[in-house]
Amino acid sequence: MRKPFIAGNWKMNKTVSEAVELVAKLKEIVKDERGEIVVIPPFTALFEVKKIISGSRIELGAQNLYWKEKGAFTGEISPLMLKDIGCKYVIVGHSERRQHFNETDEIVNLKIKAALENSLIPIFCIGEKLEQRDKGETLNVIERQFEGGLSGIDESKARKIVIAYEPVWAIGTGRTATPEQAQEVHSFIRTKLRKKYGNEIANCAIILYGGSVKPENAHSLIKQKDIDGVLVGGASLEAESFGKIIEEGWRAFREK
Ligand code: PEP
Repeated sequence: MRKPFIAGNWKMNKTVSEAVELVAKLKEIVKDERGEIVVIPPFTALFEVKKIISGSRIELGAQNLYWKEKGAFTGEISPLMLKDIGCKYVIVGHSERRQHFNETDEIVNLKIKAALENSLIPIFCIGEKLEQRDKGETLNVIERQFEGGLSGIDESKARKIVIAYEPVWAIGTGRTATPEQAQEVHSFIRTKLRKKYGNEIANCAIILYGGSVKPENAHSLIKQKDIDGVLVGGASLEAESFGKIIEEGWRAFREK
């Protein structure tokens, strides 16, 4: 049985004190909410945020990881370190990392494997650019990223992965995919999962939508059959708007 899953990617925002203030407010707002609620602060705030959310409904995620456990990799953060600090999730393959840090499908694949080997749940992001959508290439791009990222990952590992469909043209632009556009791709992803891993995994898999999600559009997106929740950037930086999205997610799920 799938449940609403709402994750907030704070990206490179919030000092430690700002992060603590935000998550403390959020903790009050979501006291009675159900489903999975995840905050994904910058690395520098993970430790303090974890202290505040302990014993609450909120889970912790990180925005990136390196695929080695330790060693001479200056500036990188390992899956062991994330696990040690209390992360349950880690974002892998976010379009900003693909675009600004040259992350390829091969690198994304290494990171997904490293996360899984260390009992972290990857939130595996895939999505097309505007010119690819305009050329009718959306599903080809999704297929290539899906196959590349999941290469060599068997059923027992695949069941733990969360997938996020994030059209690049909708991230941070204020332009959201329509619920129908998003559902088309989500349904395609679920079908790919069914073909690759079978019915059980496809039916249970959590597939999120991300791209300018706000309180006003969260309900219509999450109400779609194959949209199980959202990965939120900008609107997760304020407790009120993120709290409202969580509420809308739960309402949409009840109505499905
Ligand atoms: C994101 O960073 O994953 C994202 C979807 O950002 P935004 O909600 O700001 O578009």
